Amino acid sequence: MAATAPSDGGAPPNWDVLMRPRTHTPTATTAAITPADLTTRLYIFADDSMQGRLLATPGNVKGAEYIASELKRMGLTPMGDNGTYFQAVNIVDRAFDESTRLSAGSASFAPWTDYIVRDQGDGSRSLDGAQVIYGGTWGDSASLIDAAATAGKLVVLNVSPRGTTQGIPGSVARAAAVRRFPGAAGIAAAGMDLLPVQLQQILRQSSQSLKPDGTAPAVPAFLYITKRAASTLLGANVDSVKTGALGLTVTATPRFKETPVEYPARNVVAMIQGSDPKLRNEFVAIGAHNDHIGWSMRPVAHDSIYIVNHLFRTGGADDRPPQLDAAQQAQVNSLLADIRRRTNGASARADSIYNGADDDGSGSMSALEIAQYFAAQKVKPKRSLLFVWHTGEEAGLYGSEWYTDHPTVPRDSIVAQLNMDMVGRGSAADNTGITKEGGRYRGNPDYVQLVGARRLSTELGDLAESVNRAGKRPMSFDYLMDANGHPVNIYCRSDHYEYARYGIPIIFFTTGGHADYHQVTDEPQYIDYDRLARVSQYVADLAARVGNLDHRPVVDKAKPDPKGQCVQ
Ligand SMILES: [Zn+2]
Repeated sequence: MAATAPSDGGAPPNWDVLMRPRTHTPTATTAAITPADLTTRLYIFADDSMQGRLLATPGNVKGAEYIASELKRMGLTPMGDNGTYFQAVNIVDRAFDESTRLSAGSASFAPWTDYIVRDQGDGSRSLDGAQVIYGGTWGDSASLIDAAATAGKLVVLNVSPRGTTQGIPGSVARAAAVRRFPGAAGIAAAGMDLLPVQLQQILRQSSQSLKPDGTAPAVPAFLYITKRAASTLLGANVDSVKTGALGLTVTATPRFKETPVEYPARNVVAMIQGSDPKLRNEFVAIGAHNDHIGWSMRPVAHDSIYIVNHLFRTGGADDRPPQLDAAQQAQVNSLLADIRRRTNGASARADSIYNGADDDGSGSMSALEIAQYFAAQKVKPKRSLLFVWHTGEEAGLYGSEWYTDHPTVPRDSIVAQLNMDMVGRGSAADNTGITKEGGRYRGNPDYVQLVGARRLSTELGDLAESVNRAGKRPMSFDYLMDANGHPVNIYCRSDHYEYARYGIPIIFFTTGGHADYHQVTDEPQYIDYDRLARVSQYVADLAARVGNLDHRPVVDKAKPDPKGQCVQ
């Protein structure tokens, strides 16, 4: 078949992978870190029967149980709740309480028709008794009111049909609006008439989050309202009223109600005790996430999505879905026909499960393989090794936030955390990252990405380099995604940050992005098991090196505010 290069000029995809077998017969795993062991593990963990391992669903429960049963077999020490391998994470289902009221003067407003309240945990200020003030048009900063004038008030903002946030008509970046009017009781953006119906439906659904514990800093309540509601609240037409004009005083009790999730959200936690009687009270933490994003209600044609994404959406879900022109569609169709011919049609299938083989089946199974490797060693590293498979990473780093807020070992005894998220790809055909300036780039046979390695401890970053140089076949480290102010903000986007916020030095290892990122095509037959084994062995070697140091890695950089905003 003719090689067809993707639109961004990378190496041509290898379409033959679409013909690889989709099942694997498990073999007994060994003490050594091997591609064969990792293959066995990942085909189990990313199997369709795990249903995409979505937080608080039977699939995620099943995935966590597989990890725990392996840990038990290997003889690791349980470090979860009550002598088990599981730590329950307090996830609740939060939904808008429709019995709550919003009224002003003689007018009362109906949820979903006149307004939508956004959930901000328990941080939203009360709107009861707040006077309405017109704050100008969002997107036209010259028209906006002085923040000082909005203290304690409900700020109504107009939303220009031309101004959009992330391309969504009518939407306002909540965080930016809250930063602009930090002292307001609430912010009501009059963009609801423009908001796409699908988005309004999404906003109506309940969502899962950590149960608020009353420590969230108070922020303005945030609502979308219709123009009609805005004009009623202001007692004047929102399109012609002057910035600073005062309106009615509202009576309001918007609340969210919580229900427990049906299936438990659990971190899996285990330890291998260190060999030094003193240093064993300190821990080198190794982490990954056990959850993924579940399944889609709308099945798609697997091969077709694979081909389209590998040609025209090389960043997977990080890129917008492409609009194909006739020539591009013809190219996809001919590649598809070729695969059909070569497999006698056997490869054709509808697919609805986000298997998450790379994300983060790869990191999760790597951590298990590293656990087995150390469990079999006669002489353990001096420090203890702490393994944590976090849940709820995809939904908002919930498991790692919970673990670091409720650690099962003293938090200050964790000397470093090595996080692995997506470590099974990274080839020259994969779009592994983008530069700060926006240029796409590719992996290579030795590729691995490091993020945050020197953000708290220069020494830890130096150790990572020296352990790599000492290896049989050093890998090539890519630090481009770690640039300060990089728009992808990757340092803030996986579990390691929850450790870093407490001043624990971290390194985030990943082989980077690819066309199958958060797609149904992230399946085990597309994983590079040799590379996964190399990354795993390397992380094990680094963990041993840190575990045997005569001192803990020196923190020589400023520690972040644990409850503050992450900044890359
Ligand atoms: Zn991930």
